[in-house]
Amino acid sequence: MDNCIFCKIANKEIPAHIIYEDDDFIAFLDINPQSPGHSQIIPKKHYRWVWDVPNAGNYFEVVKKVALAQKRAFKTQWILSKVVGEDVEHAHIWVYPAIKGNLKDFEGNRNKIIENL
Ligand SMILES: [Zn+2]
Repeated sequence: MDNCIFCKIANKEIPAHIIYEDDDFIAFLDINPQSPGHSQIIPKKHYRWVWDVPNAGNYFEVVKKVALAQKRAFKTQWILSKVVGEDVEHAHIWVYPAIKGNLKDFEGNRNKIIENL
């Protein structure tokens, strides 16, 4: 998709605070975070909905990996997740710790998560 911001992030055409990447999926910090460390996990290939992603099992393994890293990074048991599908029309899953803190400390939060992956 030509005008899809998440395709552009996946293709490294625009910068993002990437925390995880493999052949099929990429995770990065949300630019408008709900809480410190709020991450988006997306398939690199464009799918409109999460439920369209063929290797959903692998997808959720990545979601779990990020969630467990957030648990350790932000010292909380309480990790929230949302599958909504509005705003950007590219499959994405929100994962974020239910904590308060500095929402805009992107590099600090990014490093904390990467250290705990
Ligand atoms: Zn896309």
